[in-house]
Amino acid sequence: MYTGKVLKDTSKYSGRVRPWREKKLDNLTYAQYLEVLQFKKANRVRDCGDVLQFSVNEDGMKLYQTWFCHSRLCPLCSWRRSLKNSYELQQILDVAHSKYPNAIYLFLTLTEENSELGELKLNLKNMNSSVRRLMQYKKVAKNMIGYVRSSEITVNRKNYTFHQHMHLLLLMKTSYFNSSDYLTKNDWVKMWRRARKLDYDPVVDIRKIRTKSKHGQSALVDSAKEVAKYQVKNSDYITTDEKSDLIVLNELEKGLQGSRQLSFGGVLKDIRHNLLLDKNEDDLINVGSSDDSAGIVKKVMYKWNSSVSDYVSWE
Ligand SMILES: [Zn+2]
Repeated sequence: MYTGKVLKDTSKYSGRVRPWREKKLDNLTYAQYLEVLQFKKANRVRDCGDVLQFSVNEDGMKLYQTWFCHSRLCPLCSWRRSLKNSYELQQILDVAHSKYPNAIYLFLTLTEENSELGELKLNLKNMNSSVRRLMQYKKVAKNMIGYVRSSEITVNRKNYTFHQHMHLLLLMKTSYFNSSDYLTKNDWVKMWRRARKLDYDPVVDIRKIRTKSKHGQSALVDSAKEVAKYQVKNSDYITTDEKSDLIVLNELEKGLQGSRQLSFGGVLKDIRHNLLLDKNEDDLINVGSSDDSAGIVKKVMYKWNSSVSDYVSWE
């Protein structure tokens, strides 16, 4: 029965209302764009998160069941994926930190010139293989014990170019800071230029993450969040300018096909595997702490209502 009660799902930790409504509205715009661009999945995307079931206990609501479309750029799915990635990465880094308490963490950002329309797919593919090549260079591999890399794309609307870049969190042996092994920023620029086969010096950023300071753990968590965040921001392809959105979205859809947002290497890959996180990659329902079903008081169901433009309770 339709009760007319509008969904309000508040996070117990942050006190913030979870953005179901905003994400579903963007999802519907996204589905409409896909239809205009004649992508077959448009109808599937439109059904994403149409009915949400939550379990309720003293701590609040937790998503219990729904159907997600899993499209990479779906605003609902990419929101859930960023929560999931950030939570899982923190779990992985917690284990790494306890197993290798003296390891050094580096945050590396690798860039190149922007892609023009039609170039994104190939550039992303080549960037990925170049990162793998870079990680195998003797000077890097010698001290590197693990890494996670993510790809991110920002859009320049003025000239329809795409800034694809890679973030890497590197776990290094303490010997990295021996004078003979230490790599300067300029070394990283030269190595990336070689690995990516560029004829110019690319912009590279390398910094050490402090893990021993008072706020050490949170600096690491911040870097984990930076790595796990959205691959492309929704606002880069959903604006009020539909004509321009369609040009951008068409390129992003094609460019991201078959690519991976995150990839792991070395001990971080092993830890992820041991935590069984590589087994449930498609689970966008359980994206946070505690799957504890104890203390469930009841289950509630909400359905998207297009005349109200919000999720409304059904009983
Ligand atoms: Zn979706």
